[in-house]
Amino acid sequence: MISSKKNYEEIKDELNRKRRNHRLKNLESVRRKARDYSKTEKGRKRTRRSERTNYRNNLERDRKRGKKKYELLKYQIMMRYSNNVPQCACCGELEYDFLSLDHIIPQAITGKLPNRVGVHLYRKLKREGFPDGYQILCSNCNLAKRDHGVCIHDKNFIDKKLHCIVYESQKKFQDKIKQMIIEKYSNETNACVCCKLTDIRFLALDHIYSIENYKGMPRGGYPLFLWLRKAGFPPGFQILCHNCNHSKAKHGICVHMIKNNEHSQPNIINNKL
Ligand SMILES: [Zn+2]
Ligand SMILES: [Zn+2]
Ligand SMILES: [Zn+2]
Ligand SMILES: [Zn+2]
Repeated sequence: MISSKKNYEEIKDELNRKRRNHRLKNLESVRRKARDYSKTEKGRKRTRRSERTNYRNNLERDRKRGKKKYELLKYQIMMRYSNNVPQCACCGELEYDFLSLDHIIPQAITGKLPNRVGVHLYRKLKREGFPDGYQILCSNCNLAKRDHGVCIHDKNFIDKKLHCIVYESQKKFQDKIKQMIIEKYSNETNACVCCKLTDIRFLALDHIYSIENYKGMPRGGYPLFLWLRKAGFPPGFQILCHNCNHSKAKHGICVHMIKNNEHSQPNIINNKL
Protein backbone atom coordinates (compact mmCIF):
# COMPACT_ATOMS: atom_id res chain seq x y z
CA MET A 1 0.00 0.00 0.00
CA ILE A 2 1.41 3.34 -1.03
CA SER A 3 0.71 5.75 1.80
CA SER A 4 2.39 8.93 0.66
CA LYS A 5 4.09 10.58 -2.26
CA LYS A 6 7.45 10.10 -0.62
CA ASN A 7 6.97 6.34 -0.39
CA TYR A 8 5.95 6.21 -4.01
CA GLU A 9 9.09 8.09 -5.07
CA GLU A 10 11.20 5.51 -3.24
CA ILE A 11 9.67 2.49 -4.92
CA LYS A 12 8.91 4.14 -8.27
CA ASP A 13 11.69 2.44 -10.21
CA GLU A 14 10.82 -0.93 -8.76
CA LEU A 15 7.15 -0.52 -9.66
CA ASN A 16 7.93 0.62 -13.17
CA ARG A 17 10.20 -2.35 -13.71
CA LYS A 18 7.46 -4.73 -12.55
CA ARG A 19 4.92 -3.05 -14.84
CA ARG A 20 7.29 -3.29 -17.79
CA ASN A 21 7.92 -6.99 -17.17
CA HIS A 22 4.23 -7.69 -16.80
CA ARG A 23 3.52 -5.87 -20.04
CA LEU A 24 6.21 -7.78 -21.94
CA LYS A 25 4.99 -11.15 -20.63
CA ASN A 26 1.33 -10.49 -21.39
CA LEU A 27 1.66 -8.30 -24.44
CA GLU A 28 -1.38 -9.73 -26.24
CA SER A 29 -3.83 -9.43 -23.36
CA VAL A 30 -2.53 -5.98 -22.33
CA ARG A 31 -3.09 -4.72 -25.86
CA ARG A 32 -6.53 -6.30 -26.10
CA LYS A 33 -7.58 -4.71 -22.80
CA ALA A 34 -6.32 -1.30 -23.92
CA ARG A 35 -8.20 -1.67 -27.19
CA ASP A 36 -11.41 -2.62 -25.42
CA TYR A 37 -11.01 0.23 -22.95
CA SER A 38 -10.48 2.79 -25.72
CA LYS A 39 -13.84 1.77 -27.18
CA THR A 40 -15.78 2.54 -24.00
CA GLU A 41 -17.18 6.03 -23.36
CA LYS A 42 -14.71 6.58 -20.51
CA GLY A 43 -11.77 5.50 -22.64
CA ARG A 44 -12.77 7.74 -25.52
CA LYS A 45 -12.98 10.75 -23.21
CA ARG A 46 -9.57 9.98 -21.79
CA THR A 47 -8.02 9.70 -25.25
CA ARG A 48 -9.48 13.02 -26.29
CA ARG A 49 -8.18 14.63 -23.12
CA SER A 50 -4.65 13.33 -23.60
CA GLU A 51 -4.69 14.33 -27.27
CA ARG A 52 -5.55 17.89 -26.28
CA THR A 53 -2.81 17.95 -23.61
CA ASN A 54 -0.24 16.55 -26.02
CA TYR A 55 -1.21 19.16 -28.60
CA ARG A 56 -0.77 21.97 -26.09
CA ASN A 57 2.46 20.63 -24.65
CA ASN A 58 4.11 20.00 -28.00
CA LEU A 59 2.88 23.09 -29.79
CA GLU A 60 6.24 24.85 -29.78
CA ARG A 61 8.15 21.72 -30.79
CA ASP A 62 5.71 20.92 -33.61
CA ARG A 63 5.88 24.47 -34.92
CA LYS A 64 9.65 24.28 -35.06
CA ARG A 65 9.52 20.95 -36.87
CA GLY A 66 6.95 22.31 -39.31
CA LYS A 67 9.11 25.33 -40.07
CA LYS A 68 12.18 23.19 -40.64
CA LYS A 69 10.24 20.93 -42.99
CA TYR A 70 8.95 23.95 -44.89
CA GLU A 71 12.43 25.49 -45.26
CA LEU A 72 13.78 22.19 -46.55
CA LEU A 73 10.97 21.86 -49.10
CA LYS A 74 11.44 25.46 -50.24
CA TYR A 75 15.18 24.88 -50.64
CA GLN A 76 14.50 21.80 -52.78
CA ILE A 77 12.14 23.82 -54.98
CA MET A 78 14.66 26.67 -55.30
CA MET A 79 17.41 24.25 -56.33
CA ARG A 80 15.27 22.37 -58.86
CA TYR A 81 14.03 25.47 -60.66
CA SER A 82 17.38 27.29 -60.88
CA ASN A 83 20.00 24.72 -61.96
CA ASN A 84 21.21 24.12 -58.41
CA VAL A 85 22.27 27.75 -57.77
CA PRO A 86 19.29 29.63 -56.35
CA GLN A 87 19.26 32.98 -58.19
CA CYS A 88 16.91 35.34 -60.01
CA ALA A 89 16.43 34.12 -63.61
CA CYS A 90 16.17 37.75 -64.76
CA CYS A 91 18.71 39.93 -62.92
CA GLY A 92 20.87 37.24 -61.32
CA GLU A 93 20.17 38.35 -57.72
CA LEU A 94 21.72 35.75 -55.41
CA GLU A 95 20.29 36.90 -52.05
CA TYR A 96 18.26 33.81 -51.10
CA ASP A 97 15.87 35.83 -48.99
CA PHE A 98 14.64 37.84 -52.01
CA LEU A 99 13.85 34.83 -54.20
CA SER A 100 10.47 33.30 -54.88
CA LEU A 101 8.82 30.94 -57.33
CA ASP A 102 7.19 32.50 -60.42
CA HIS A 103 4.64 31.05 -62.87
CA ILE A 104 6.40 31.68 -66.22
CA ILE A 105 3.01 32.10 -67.94
CA PRO A 106 0.80 34.06 -65.51
CA GLN A 107 -2.24 32.19 -64.26
CA ALA A 108 -4.53 34.98 -65.44
CA ILE A 109 -3.54 34.04 -69.03
CA THR A 110 -3.60 30.26 -68.69
CA GLY A 111 -7.09 30.63 -67.22
CA LYS A 112 -6.55 27.82 -64.78
CA LEU A 113 -8.27 27.83 -61.43
CA PRO A 114 -6.50 29.91 -58.79
CA ASN A 115 -3.52 27.78 -57.96
CA ARG A 116 -2.21 26.89 -54.58
CA VAL A 117 0.40 29.22 -53.17
CA GLY A 118 3.32 28.89 -50.78
CA VAL A 119 3.76 25.55 -49.11
CA HIS A 120 0.69 24.05 -50.84
CA LEU A 121 2.15 24.86 -54.26
CA TYR A 122 5.59 23.52 -53.26
CA ARG A 123 4.03 20.25 -52.06
CA LYS A 124 2.03 19.89 -55.27
CA LEU A 125 5.13 20.47 -57.44
CA LYS A 126 7.16 17.93 -55.51
CA ARG A 127 4.34 15.38 -55.75
CA GLU A 128 4.12 15.90 -59.52
CA GLY A 129 7.89 15.55 -59.99
CA PHE A 130 8.77 19.24 -60.50
CA PRO A 131 6.89 19.98 -63.77
CA ASP A 132 8.03 22.77 -66.14
CA GLY A 133 6.45 26.22 -66.24
CA TYR A 134 8.08 27.78 -63.21
CA GLN A 135 11.19 29.86 -62.59
CA ILE A 136 12.91 31.66 -59.71
CA LEU A 137 12.67 35.47 -59.63
CA CYS A 138 13.56 38.09 -57.04
CA SER A 139 10.70 40.23 -55.70
CA ASN A 140 11.72 43.23 -57.83
CA CYS A 141 11.63 41.30 -61.12
CA ASN A 142 8.56 39.31 -60.05
CA LEU A 143 6.46 42.41 -59.36
CA ALA A 144 7.74 44.21 -62.48
CA LYS A 145 6.75 41.17 -64.54
CA ARG A 146 3.33 41.15 -62.88
CA ASP A 147 2.79 44.83 -63.69
CA HIS A 148 4.23 44.96 -67.22
CA GLY A 149 4.08 41.40 -68.60
CA VAL A 150 7.89 41.18 -68.82
CA CYS A 151 10.46 42.53 -66.40
CA ILE A 152 11.91 45.99 -67.03
CA HIS A 153 15.32 44.32 -67.44
CA ASP A 154 14.00 42.35 -70.43
CA LYS A 155 15.05 43.66 -73.86
CA ASN A 156 11.48 43.06 -75.11
CA PHE A 157 10.08 45.38 -72.45
CA ILE A 158 7.47 47.84 -73.69
CA ASP A 159 4.68 49.25 -71.58
CA LYS A 160 1.93 47.54 -73.58
CA LYS A 161 -0.86 48.89 -71.45
CA LEU A 162 -0.12 52.41 -72.75
CA HIS A 163 -1.91 51.57 -76.03
CA CYS A 164 -5.22 52.08 -74.28
CA ILE A 165 -6.08 55.80 -74.20
CA VAL A 166 -8.25 55.76 -71.06
CA TYR A 167 -5.64 53.76 -69.27
CA GLU A 168 -2.93 56.10 -70.52
CA SER A 169 -4.34 59.22 -68.87
CA GLN A 170 -5.08 57.31 -65.67
CA LYS A 171 -1.62 55.81 -65.64
CA LYS A 172 0.03 59.17 -66.24
CA PHE A 173 -1.83 60.61 -63.26
CA GLN A 174 -0.91 57.64 -61.06
CA ASP A 175 2.73 57.85 -62.15
CA LYS A 176 2.80 61.54 -61.28
CA ILE A 177 1.45 60.90 -57.77
CA LYS A 178 3.84 57.99 -57.22
CA GLN A 179 6.78 60.09 -58.40
CA MET A 180 5.79 62.86 -55.98
CA ILE A 181 5.42 60.46 -53.02
CA ILE A 182 8.77 58.80 -53.74
CA GLU A 183 10.54 62.15 -54.05
CA LYS A 184 9.09 63.41 -50.78
CA TYR A 185 9.80 60.29 -48.73
CA SER A 186 13.30 59.65 -50.14
CA ASN A 187 14.51 63.23 -49.53
CA GLU A 188 14.61 63.72 -53.31
CA THR A 189 17.16 60.91 -53.78
CA ASN A 190 14.58 58.63 -55.51
CA ALA A 191 16.41 55.60 -54.12
CA CYS A 192 15.79 52.60 -51.87
CA VAL A 193 16.90 53.72 -48.41
CA CYS A 194 18.52 50.31 -47.84
CA CYS A 195 20.23 49.18 -51.09
CA LYS A 196 20.16 52.54 -52.95
CA LEU A 197 18.43 51.12 -56.05
CA THR A 198 17.12 54.07 -58.06
CA ASP A 199 14.69 52.66 -60.66
CA ILE A 200 11.34 54.09 -59.58
CA ARG A 201 9.49 51.08 -61.04
CA PHE A 202 11.07 48.84 -58.40
CA LEU A 203 10.39 51.18 -55.49
CA ALA A 204 7.57 51.06 -52.96
CA LEU A 205 6.38 53.06 -49.99
CA ASP A 206 7.13 51.25 -46.73
CA HIS A 207 5.33 51.67 -43.39
CA ILE A 208 8.25 52.14 -40.97
CA TYR A 209 6.24 51.01 -37.93
CA SER A 210 3.72 48.21 -37.48
CA ILE A 211 0.41 48.75 -39.22
CA GLU A 212 -1.54 49.44 -35.99
CA ASN A 213 0.17 52.84 -35.78
CA TYR A 214 -1.52 53.99 -38.97
CA LYS A 215 -5.18 54.04 -37.96
CA GLY A 216 -7.48 56.17 -40.09
CA MET A 217 -5.32 55.88 -43.20
CA PRO A 218 -5.96 53.78 -46.31
CA ARG A 219 -3.87 50.61 -46.12
CA GLY A 220 -1.83 51.12 -49.29
CA GLY A 221 -1.67 51.79 -53.03
CA TYR A 222 -3.00 54.93 -54.68
CA PRO A 223 -5.66 55.64 -52.04
CA LEU A 224 -2.81 55.94 -49.52
CA PHE A 225 -0.72 58.11 -51.88
CA LEU A 226 -3.63 60.50 -52.35
CA TRP A 227 -4.34 60.56 -48.62
CA LEU A 228 -0.69 61.40 -47.84
CA ARG A 229 -0.64 64.22 -50.37
CA LYS A 230 -3.79 65.68 -48.85
CA ALA A 231 -2.41 65.32 -45.31
CA GLY A 232 0.83 67.11 -46.20
CA PHE A 233 3.17 64.08 -46.22
CA PRO A 234 3.18 63.05 -42.52
CA PRO A 235 6.24 61.12 -41.25
CA GLY A 236 6.30 57.36 -40.63
CA PHE A 237 7.11 56.19 -44.15
CA GLN A 238 10.24 55.48 -46.17
CA ILE A 239 11.11 54.27 -49.67
CA LEU A 240 12.31 50.68 -50.14
CA CYS A 241 12.66 48.48 -53.21
CA HIS A 242 10.40 45.41 -53.28
CA ASN A 243 13.28 43.09 -52.34
CA CYS A 244 14.23 45.06 -49.22
CA ASN A 245 10.56 45.65 -48.41
CA HIS A 246 9.63 41.96 -48.49
CA SER A 247 12.72 41.04 -46.50
CA LYS A 248 11.84 43.64 -43.84
CA ALA A 249 8.29 42.30 -43.72
CA LYS A 250 9.63 38.80 -43.03
CA HIS A 251 12.29 39.57 -40.41
CA GLY A 252 11.50 43.09 -39.21
CA ILE A 253 14.78 44.23 -40.79
CA CYS A 254 16.19 43.81 -44.31
CA VAL A 255 18.84 41.09 -44.71
CA HIS A 256 21.23 43.76 -45.98
CA MET A 257 21.20 45.20 -42.44
CA ILE A 258 21.92 41.91 -40.69
CA LYS A 259 25.57 41.57 -39.74
CA ASN A 260 27.55 38.98 -41.72
CA ASN A 261 24.47 38.67 -43.92
CA GLU A 262 23.72 35.14 -42.75
CA HIS A 263 20.47 35.06 -44.68
CA SER A 264 22.25 35.09 -48.04
CA GLN A 265 22.41 31.36 -47.42
CA PRO A 266 19.18 29.48 -46.74
CA ASN A 267 18.56 28.70 -43.07
CA ILE A 268 18.77 25.01 -43.87
CA ILE A 269 22.43 25.43 -44.84
CA ASN A 270 23.18 27.83 -41.97
CA ASN A 271 21.83 25.15 -39.63
CA LYS A 272 19.94 27.90 -37.87
CA LEU A 273 16.83 25.81 -37.36
ZN1 LIG B 1 15.72 39.89 -60.22
ZN1 LIG C 1 14.39 41.74 -63.93
ZN1 LIG D 1 16.53 47.90 -51.73
ZN1 LIG E 1 17.98 45.90 -48.17
